[in-house]
Amino acid sequence: MLIDCHVHLNAYHTVNGDRRRPTEENVDRLWDAMAANGVDHAVVLTSYKVDVDRPSVERVLEILAEDPRTTVVEGLRWRGDARTDLFHMEERIRDGVVKGIKLYPGYDKYAINDPSLEAVFRLAAKHDVPVMIHCGDTYAKGAKVRQAHPLLVDDVAVDYPDVRFVICHLGNPWFVDTAEVLYKNDNVYADISGLTLGDFDYEFERYVIMRVKDLISYMGTPGKQLMYGSDWPLVEMGPYVKFLEGLGFSEGEREHIAWKTAAEIFKIDVSRLESPTPH
Ligand SMILES: [Zn+2]
Repeated sequence: MLIDCHVHLNAYHTVNGDRRRPTEENVDRLWDAMAANGVDHAVVLTSYKVDVDRPSVERVLEILAEDPRTTVVEGLRWRGDARTDLFHMEERIRDGVVKGIKLYPGYDKYAINDPSLEAVFRLAAKHDVPVMIHCGDTYAKGAKVRQAHPLLVDDVAVDYPDVRFVICHLGNPWFVDTAEVLYKNDNVYADISGLTLGDFDYEFERYVIMRVKDLISYMGTPGKQLMYGSDWPLVEMGPYVKFLEGLGFSEGEREHIAWKTAAEIFKIDVSRLESPTPH
């Protein structure tokens, strides 16, 4: 069983030189990529803005129509022209169609510990849904990377002990800071997504594997807090599954990282997954 806890349905034609595709086509490509790589379930994260390349959460929910192969996490739109209406977000969470909240600090010009987020964190605590946070390098030059530093997750993890936070991308390149925040806080998790673009080159994959192994040596028991995620379509699924296997986890750790931890925090009903592929 394999759950990819970090995929997008945005059109990234400006990043990968691909042509602009309608969201329905990106959904078909997601099913194909999952089937080809033995991924049984994917957590789809919506964006911090809505435009021709970035479908709204309403649109994504409509297209996916509660397909058992996906879980939807709503991207918070906090600083742009059209901001998230928390009342409507809470309705979607209460109704169980949205299973988590994703923050885009740095891109959306606020810091992880911005006091304005209190209402968002209280909502997450009330409904026990995880808050995923983009941490570390922002691909966009116009984003402010300091606001997305993983050390700031410690502030909110301490202030909101009833909320489960997920540090995305292991806070790349601040792996040591992420290791400390994970070691110190039981309510903080992390996904291993987006540590390259497209496919790894050999040297860089070796570098990343060493950093991740260092992080694990420091934090201990990675199975409790780490989750598999790719960042597809920015990252290809095939090389990323290989990357997971190259991290050398024990069978028990791997089981948690590959699906058990994600199934628990996103409340994914794995019994609904048809003919799970053996791994
Ligand atoms: Zn992402």
